[in-house]
Amino acid sequence: METVAAPAPDMVSLEAKSPFEMRVHLGENVPDMDVKTALKTGDLGFLHSFTTGSAVDGPGIRLVAWTTSCMFRCQYCHNPDTWTLKNGIPVTLEHAVDEVRKYANGLKAMKGGFTLSGGEPMMQARFAARLFDAVKKMGVHTAIETNGYYGNHLSDDELATIDLVILDMKAFSAEQHQRVANMDNAEVLDFCRRLSTLRRPMWFRYVLVPGLTDDPDEIGRVAGFAASLGVVERAEILPFHQMGKYKWDRLGIDYRLEDTDPPSAESVASAINIFRSAGLSAH
Ligand code: SF4
Repeated sequence: METVAAPAPDMVSLEAKSPFEMRVHLGENVPDMDVKTALKTGDLGFLHSFTTGSAVDGPGIRLVAWTTSCMFRCQYCHNPDTWTLKNGIPVTLEHAVDEVRKYANGLKAMKGGFTLSGGEPMMQARFAARLFDAVKKMGVHTAIETNGYYGNHLSDDELATIDLVILDMKAFSAEQHQRVANMDNAEVLDFCRRLSTLRRPMWFRYVLVPGLTDDPDEIGRVAGFAASLGVVERAEILPFHQMGKYKWDRLGIDYRLEDTDPPSAESVASAINIFRSAGLSAH
């Protein structure tokens, strides 16, 4: 196992070329009491990075802020360095808002927007809510990419400042969710139903992993649930890849998908068809 040396935080740029950059220990000097206050107030967030020019994290061209901390432990996670809050760079709310403001006009011109992803952004729900509120006031389209587990940490009014919820759906069945993410999903399903009641637009994302998430019956249950909500505008099948493998190796975490190949084109097409058969626009 390789050990990971801590880079000096001031040597690390807030902007990264991609979230696949390995980032660790960047917030470890923040005292626990300050972390507690930050989580309570949202005055300070912990971010892996900002990336620009994304065409895959919502409509148009997006600025994406990647948060750290996540309660799930998905077998296929490609950014396990974002599991730990203090691996992220401590960033004041004002700094994060200024970062978005720098790009606001361009994002509007390109019919894109700002996406908060992770990690799991709702682990820092106060920071997320205040950031979305500020970005929305700039007239920029807002999206959150979330596993949905802490959806109840945002109020209905706060959800109204998020134009699109991209739900990373791991499974529909509780046992399968436990197998994939090592946690239950009752809260996730509740959050989806709440968004449906509130008529908030959603996209679904589903990672297709051979031997783990490619059972057609389970995909059918996810697709049927998505369709039943009546607010899912788009479903995306994301083929599993090994771009994050080096992070598991370097962090010394047991990686169960070491020998798993990406799904075949046929298998991806068949998963897309299951979503389409449920009446959804799927890609
Ligand atoms: S929810 Fe996302 S960040 Fe969290 S473990 Fe799963 S894939 Fe990784």
